[in-house]
Amino acid sequence: MKVGVVGGGLAGALLAWRLSEASDRVRVEVVVGRRTRPDASAVSGGLVRGFELDPGAGRVAAESLAELRGDDRLREWSGYREIGSLYVVPRGVDPAGSVRVVDERLPGSPAVVDAGELRRRFGFRDLADDAVGVVERHAGYLSPAKLRDSALARAADQGVDVVAADAVDVRDGPALRTSDGVERRYDALVVAAGAWTPGLVDHGGTLRTKQIQYGVYRVPLSGLGAFVDDDTGLYGRPWGDGTFLLGLGCDRWDVRPEAVEPDLALADRVAAGVRRRFGVAVGAAPPEKVVASFDCYRSPAGLRLLPVDGRPGLFTFTGGSGGAAKTAVVVSRRAAGELLTTL
Ligand SMILES: Cc1cc2nc3c(=O)[nH]c(=O)nc-3n(C[C@H](O)[C@H](O)[C@H](O)COP(=O)(O)OP(=O)(O)OC[C@H]3O[C@@H](n4cnc5c(N)ncnc54)[C@H](O)[C@@H]3O)c2cc1C
Repeated sequence: MKVGVVGGGLAGALLAWRLSEASDRVRVEVVVGRRTRPDASAVSGGLVRGFELDPGAGRVAAESLAELRGDDRLREWSGYREIGSLYVVPRGVDPAGSVRVVDERLPGSPAVVDAGELRRRFGFRDLADDAVGVVERHAGYLSPAKLRDSALARAADQGVDVVAADAVDVRDGPALRTSDGVERRYDALVVAAGAWTPGLVDHGGTLRTKQIQYGVYRVPLSGLGAFVDDDTGLYGRPWGDGTFLLGLGCDRWDVRPEAVEPDLALADRVAAGVRRRFGVAVGAAPPEKVVASFDCYRSPAGLRLLPVDGRPGLFTFTGGSGGAAKTAVVVSRRAAGELLTTL
């Protein structure tokens, strides 16, 4: 039995590693591309927490975080930093159900805080008196790039073939033609090429690409760890040396990964939002660094293994929708199990 995986980002690397751990009757080949520009996993902010407004999404994120925290190897591979997390929920939303979901998987981690605590402890201004946040002790950030590199190295140690060529043509069979001129045939083929996936496989229009952007700003935000402010859309985490990674949602859809350009107006809106929300001075504009990248989005959001209709043996494993660092540990294990049952 032979399984092919296209893409050596977080999704493809973890899937290849999980497959190599799950079965020794399967040969795995992962085609990682020639890596001519950074992928999403190379620049991802890596924020991980359990809490999500949608309890279903929160369940997967909390399980992934629990598995990561409980596994010395995964913690080391990912460089996980447990600095805590804060999620300010939109006005009028009751977070109780989603908090329970996290508490079941990470006991004692989440707690609800009110507007007074948001002001005192985290420095929020410009906040409604009925504002509510969810604090998680067991959350923080990791390095998706480090995690995928470690998973790929381990997969290679376990016999996975890592091919540094681009997938050029995905064919029925399933089969693949690569830039080294080789025609490759598999029993199952998984395209996990992130934002490049829609260009390789027509998945019925369900996959789209979107720009994601953050800046690194010199700003005194004491008391804050990783945070999402769903009232204003701001998110961020400490970057180091008096700087903070800060972002706002970007509305550039259907971008080509090769052609993404920084949106400097968005970078200015981030600085203005932070000034208003925290009442602090933000250093030089433009910020010290702007990272403009991309991800593959699907609805409902989330990294998932999906068969491609009418093309037996062909799957996609993408759709991280700006959040796969939070779920990839668990979802890749499940995807490997699902794939093996089809062989
Ligand atoms: C700026 C930014 C910040 C983010 N912050 C967070 C966060 O804080 N928390 C969170 O949970 N998530 C975050 N995410 C989302 C998360 O990082 C992504 O969902 C995840 O990294 C996607 O991994 P991937 O493997 O699907 O895609 P990618 O990492 O983009 O990997 C796709 C791979 O496919 C390869 N490839 C492409 N075409 C071919 C081809 N033809 N042949 C062979 N290989 C090919 C590419 O070279 C690449 O290595 C962020 C994403 C971005 C961009």
